[in-house]
Amino acid sequence: MMGYQELPQSKLFYTGFNLDQKVRKNHPLRNIQKAIDFEFIYQKVADTYGSNGNVSTPPPVILKLMLLLVLYNVRSERELMETVPERLDWLWFLGYELDTEIPDHSVLSKARKRWGTEVFKEFFERVVWQSVEAGLVDGSKIFLDSSLIEADASENSIVDTHSLKKQLSKNYQELEERLEERSPGEVNQRYLSTTDPEAALVRQGSGTAQLSYKTHRAVDPGCEIITATEVTPGDLNEAHRMIELMNAHQSNTLRPAEIVVADSKYGTIENFLSCYDRGVKAHIPDLKKARASRHIKEGIYSDDKFTYDSRSDTYLCPSGVRLKKKSLHKSRQSLDYGAPKKECSKCLLRPECTENQSGRTVKRHFRQTELDLMRAKAQLAEARRDLQTRQHLMERSFARSKRYGYDRSQWRGLWRVQIQEYMTATIQNIQALIRYAQGPLRMAMTGTMMDMIKTRASSVIDFFLIVKSELSPIKNN
Ligand code: SF4
Repeated sequence: MMGYQELPQSKLFYTGFNLDQKVRKNHPLRNIQKAIDFEFIYQKVADTYGSNGNVSTPPPVILKLMLLLVLYNVRSERELMETVPERLDWLWFLGYELDTEIPDHSVLSKARKRWGTEVFKEFFERVVWQSVEAGLVDGSKIFLDSSLIEADASENSIVDTHSLKKQLSKNYQELEERLEERSPGEVNQRYLSTTDPEAALVRQGSGTAQLSYKTHRAVDPGCEIITATEVTPGDLNEAHRMIELMNAHQSNTLRPAEIVVADSKYGTIENFLSCYDRGVKAHIPDLKKARASRHIKEGIYSDDKFTYDSRSDTYLCPSGVRLKKKSLHKSRQSLDYGAPKKECSKCLLRPECTENQSGRTVKRHFRQTELDLMRAKAQLAEARRDLQTRQHLMERSFARSKRYGYDRSQWRGLWRVQIQEYMTATIQNIQALIRYAQGPLRMAMTGTMMDMIKTRASSVIDFFLIVKSELSPIKNN
């Protein structure tokens, strides 16, 4: 017999209703609730609240609301708060009942302002450390890359600070006020947005220039845990953040990187030498060579064509002419070696060698021997394999972020975008933590663990017995 639905009539009371039973056992928010400690925040932010006045929304609830905002890529905080009472799973996650009064959306922006970035940084670092403890981070090899995030500012807000017309812009006074609030030395550029002066106007490829921020990340390859992250204005050169990312990786995982893998944008002299001084292998293509390859296309010899002779401290050019020390550049930490003008002017190879009327010069860094060593190591098969891995690994890391609205910043101002990135990276790490800490055994086995097992095993059978015993606790978790 067919059933007919009664005319809808709102029930005033429900008996026997249990919110916990309404949320399925394998709901992703259940896994997050089980895996992550949100209570740490009470102690972290205690100093930012007074002892009198209105009682605030509990800090763990605010942190969870922020997590929901990013995890479900909700367009605005107002929309988030409007949706909370409609979602039983969100109510359960927040520890709310059906009739709990939902806070005003402004609690989130007030909390961010009250807490600052430090709280979200610690949240990120705690999850990284949890991943280390779960055996998901080996830490010895890191992959670096950066990606642009579109700022939450319109192109109409851009003012040319070199133009006299700036004084006529009604937005200019507003810009001046915001510039005073800005962190010193963050952006130095001609075109600034009046609504978000910390964003930088950046052109990517042949597309139009956009107001942007830039995210810099270090990723551990095993379970793709993001071990360090930072946001800067979009025009900042990523090469300048490499050492900071390596330091943050070490501080967050307590494991120093032994190999760093990055693209040629990171292959600067400073970075190669810093890696040399730290005993780190730099699997990074040489920026100088990448630029030189453009010269080769134009038919100009790169410096590689010139052979250095350490005994005479000269270079031998393709025509067999010796280039001698010519000038010293202390600021660049280099020496110029030059061929005699008269030799170059009569040389048949000149069209392929130089357009300089004074003859060809070659630069030599004060620490050229160390540089050559690092560059040679970056050419080895091991480095080339890592570079192939890098492209997909880092693309995946940033592509996953797009699910969480990473393409465009939620808020204005560098510190707020940094908060967004901490939350996004934390969510990605939580997903990996949940996936791998309960997942396939091989994913949870780190290089360190492998080394330990190898040391203890005296035979092949020993090796397998130890592997089995070491991995069983992970499997049972
Ligand atoms: S142009 Fe000068 S430096 Fe270049 S190959 Fe000829 S002689 Fe040598």
